[in-house]
Amino acid sequence: MRVLVLNPGSSSLKYQVRETNAGLVGQAVIASGQVEWTDHGRDRLTALSAVLREVAGRAGQPDAIGHRVVHGGRQFDAPTVVTPDVIKAVRALSPLAPLHNPASADSMEACARHWPGIAQAAVFDTSFHSSIPDFAFRYAVPEDAHPDVAVRRYGFHGISVAQACRDSADFLDCKPENLAAVVAHIGNGASVTAVKQGRSVDTSMGMTPLEGLVMGTRSGDLDPSVVLLLERAGASADEVDDLLNHRSGLKALAGTQDMRQIEKAAAGGDPNAVLALRVATYRLAKYIAAYSMAVGGADALVFTGGIGENSVTFRSWTVAWLGPIGIELHEGRNHLPPEGIRDIGAKSSRARVLVVPSDEERAIAESTAALLGGAERKWDT
Ligand code: ADP
Repeated sequence: MRVLVLNPGSSSLKYQVRETNAGLVGQAVIASGQVEWTDHGRDRLTALSAVLREVAGRAGQPDAIGHRVVHGGRQFDAPTVVTPDVIKAVRALSPLAPLHNPASADSMEACARHWPGIAQAAVFDTSFHSSIPDFAFRYAVPEDAHPDVAVRRYGFHGISVAQACRDSADFLDCKPENLAAVVAHIGNGASVTAVKQGRSVDTSMGMTPLEGLVMGTRSGDLDPSVVLLLERAGASADEVDDLLNHRSGLKALAGTQDMRQIEKAAAGGDPNAVLALRVATYRLAKYIAAYSMAVGGADALVFTGGIGENSVTFRSWTVAWLGPIGIELHEGRNHLPPEGIRDIGAKSSRARVLVVPSDEERAIAESTAALLGGAERKWDT
């Protein structure tokens, strides 16, 4: 099945056309590209039409279309066939993902207009976390705090984490439904997820992607009173939003969010870079230890995402905190070139330590083919 995958971000739209053939190992990428929403001053719908014409020119008409949707709220717990009602619901969730959900809804509408006969699937970043139990998703605030805001943990990065779980289970030769793992997706955005019997039971991102780990430009966990104090001192809600989402995290600690530069500076003894790495890896290690408890003892600690897959230093510093719970790295294997799945744990480690490449477009194409092309249910076989 030829699947067009659309991954609309806050500033750009990434697309891929992939061939997902049952029985074939892997998938072929037939065409891929990225446009900035602001390219040539075009509005989003004009940009979308241009992309769809470009796709048709390069790869012909697809058999199905899969959309990445950041927020599925409470109603979407699995990939879903796109209908006008689904588009409406995705748009209605925009207050929870203001930069992403409107772009997804626009993409679905543009595809329906351009190729009315082609089935579309919505694949949600939140749905893998719909299995999180109430004692982990509930915040200890009144449920009716505000009539328009359903305050709870949703979690994100689910498409990547679900794929990392399938790939880790394959690698470990265990059934996906038996996997107990802690999965750290560390890129510009970063989160860690506790996986028990193949299902998410807790995750560090919360109602929005701001909670949890120290990220490229996001603060992650902090005392909520910081927000109140800043606002009482005269900052507006938008200013605090910008501070915590765009000017915090590694960028605030090290002066850059680029892990390659931070690694280099830390190796040269730059105290800010060293502190940034210590703050970020210590925070992650605390979560890993807590989630090892949540999953009843993990078979594997899994690193994925741009930093998780590529940063030798970040992995080494993270695992260095974990000696007391018996997780240990094999430093030589930690330096293996970044190709395919790698087992980088020491023989004596209580949990395997894996590096699993993230490929969200592949995961979206597989989910789309599984939902819309019955014969190609890859992970049921
Ligand atoms: P996003 O969350 O935007 O998808 P990515 O998953 O692409 O982000 O991760 C981006 C991060 O990965 C950046 O901090 C970048 O510096 C880091 N990174 C990419 N390649 C390497 C590398 N070879 N060594 C260390 N860090 C890397």
